[in-house]
Amino acid sequence: MVDMKTIRNIGIAAHIDAGKTTTTEGILHRAGRTHREGNVDSGNTTTDSDATERERGITIYSAAVSLDWRGHTINLIDTPGHVDFTAEVERSLRVLDGAVAVFDAKEGVEAQSETVWRQCDRYAVPRICFVNKMDKLGADFALSVQSMRDRISATPAVLHMPVGDGNSFSGFVDVVRMRLVQYSKDGLFSESDVPQEMMHDALSARSELIEVVADRDDGITERYLEGEEITHESLTAAIRRQTIAGHLHPVLCGSALRKVGVQHLLDAVCDLLPNPMDASVAEFDQEFAADRSGKEGQPVPDPDADMVALVFKVVPEKTGDLTYVRVYSGTLKPSTRVFNVTRGIKENITRLFRMHADKRESISEAVAGDIVAVVGMKKAVTGDTLAPKDSGVMLDGMSFADPVMSMSIEPRASSDADKLGEALASLSRQDPTFHHSYDADTGQTLISGMGELHLEIAVGTLRESVDCAAGRPKVSYRETITADSGPVEHRHIKQTGGRGQRAIVVLKVEPLPDGEGESGFLFEDDIRGGAVCRQYINAVGKACADSMQAGVLKGHQMTNVKATLLDGEEHDVDSSDMAFAFAAKEAFRKAVIRAKPRLLEPIMRLTIALPEECFGSVSADLASRGGTILDSAMASGRRTISAKVPLSRMFGYASAVRSATGGRVSWSMEPACYEFAKGEIE
Ligand code: GDP
Repeated sequence: MVDMKTIRNIGIAAHIDAGKTTTTEGILHRAGRTHREGNVDSGNTTTDSDATERERGITIYSAAVSLDWRGHTINLIDTPGHVDFTAEVERSLRVLDGAVAVFDAKEGVEAQSETVWRQCDRYAVPRICFVNKMDKLGADFALSVQSMRDRISATPAVLHMPVGDGNSFSGFVDVVRMRLVQYSKDGLFSESDVPQEMMHDALSARSELIEVVADRDDGITERYLEGEEITHESLTAAIRRQTIAGHLHPVLCGSALRKVGVQHLLDAVCDLLPNPMDASVAEFDQEFAADRSGKEGQPVPDPDADMVALVFKVVPEKTGDLTYVRVYSGTLKPSTRVFNVTRGIKENITRLFRMHADKRESISEAVAGDIVAVVGMKKAVTGDTLAPKDSGVMLDGMSFADPVMSMSIEPRASSDADKLGEALASLSRQDPTFHHSYDADTGQTLISGMGELHLEIAVGTLRESVDCAAGRPKVSYRETITADSGPVEHRHIKQTGGRGQRAIVVLKVEPLPDGEGESGFLFEDDIRGGAVCRQYINAVGKACADSMQAGVLKGHQMTNVKATLLDGEEHDVDSSDMAFAFAAKEAFRKAVIRAKPRLLEPIMRLTIALPEECFGSVSADLASRGGTILDSAMASGRRTISAKVPLSRMFGYASAVRSATGGRVSWSMEPACYEFAKGEIE
């Protein structure tokens, strides 16, 4: 059984090009080597029968890859590279307990690292910093550390003193243990005492570190003031406590490319980042966590309690879905059945796997706190909770809004229609904010999602399996009414010899308050005296519901309408469901036009974090897009704006804001509500 204390669930966050990929590769490479070496006499858990299941294709891009280091199981969770997707970012931040922020030693803190840093603040994720590319010309460790203070209001606790920089970078002094770590060209290192000529600098670096730590640690302060020796064990323990509380950000240095410092980074992950138990009980400082809602309601991990797990990624494979879950309590076992609380269904857990960089290891259980891949579940979708039926447990914090933008898509070869259908179904299961539908009237397949970029990426994914053509992205408008239509009659009478068609429908429509009815529609039958039989009344109700879907004015789905059937007339011979459906559709259309119809458009809630000097240009741009600023606050030297803007005015926002501010603004948006469209659009 895996001891929960040895688990570390971490993500690596970085600005593009800072070296996230290289660092991840370095980590997997290092751990892989030691893993193999360490397995020589400890016996290998992968048996021969597993060999057939070894899949080469697993790369560092899998949703979670596990590695062993110093008796710890480190689960490395993939964090999305693009930061505009609330859902994607949320799903990874939700399941990780700590993060490594990678910086480029020449650039220091860059725009995207700011965004990721804020997100980690929001989700109360403790983190350590790795200043990478120390071997690069122009690398400046001190400046990078200073930029952490200035740009992200971090409290760096510098654990390494680099030796040399650029080409001369050869290692560092570990100022906690006071050891010199020197690397040779082939990536091997040796440790020795700190030489005399470095002693002065190393001691002052250690004092600085102790001062930072002592700031919030009485024990260390006392010993420091009394001039007592501070052991590296007690210093490490204090740094760990404060890191987990979010007060301190330990800083290490290295060069992932030359594999310098990678093992020390792994050591720091084990020594300084929280295990699942720490993470659930840690008193992460509220000041740093503006919103811990994502982590609230998580059960305290206990392997003996009922099994509760969260599905955080679904990856379709030829043989079935690979479903990544984080177990929050209890123990998950293969060959069992679990209850998917979100969907209200039972699902099979056929096998459990730990995904390594070069193999998948079949395991016999996953304890609370662990992250594993499951084979066997067919219906699970990202965000689903697995828990005992009737337990009332629901891990929330992953709620997904309705899509607000759509585009048409079709395969270039009509023979690929089925393939496209499969690809669409699979994408919808992986991404809860992605939907697809078929419009029978136009014969078009529509995909819909959260915005331009989201759909662009979805199309890219679809094209990996099917060659398809996509239309232009369109805002998903809605139609509604604002008045009572009064009774409206439609007489559908066709007498052209033989059997005729006859149906008379009188109905009215009126506005329905938000949240009432089903999908914004309510149908009532108010016919007296049996003028129309039940069967035809149902046909009328169904026809009105169809019209709601199809829209009346411009083909946009309608919302917030109540339709009441007031009267009608049927004929023994000439009436039929079809005749009533036709009459109802026409009556409904006429009634809607009488009821002062209006167009609704999706309004997005925009959250923007920006340096104060960009405030003017960003708010002027928002105003020109018809946006309204709802709230604006300063925190840790940065301004955060919350605004609402019509989605129709947000096309091209990403590049506009990037070029107007030199990429120093980070933003995200999510659908807020629908409002009456104004001006030209209406
Ligand atoms: P990512 O976009 O954050 O995943 O960055 P990559 O790992 O792909 O690295 C971006 C570029 O920086 C690549 O050309 C790497 O070879 C280079 N790079 C990564 N780490 C180092 C390093 O430690 N030193 C130097 N000199 N280059 C590095």
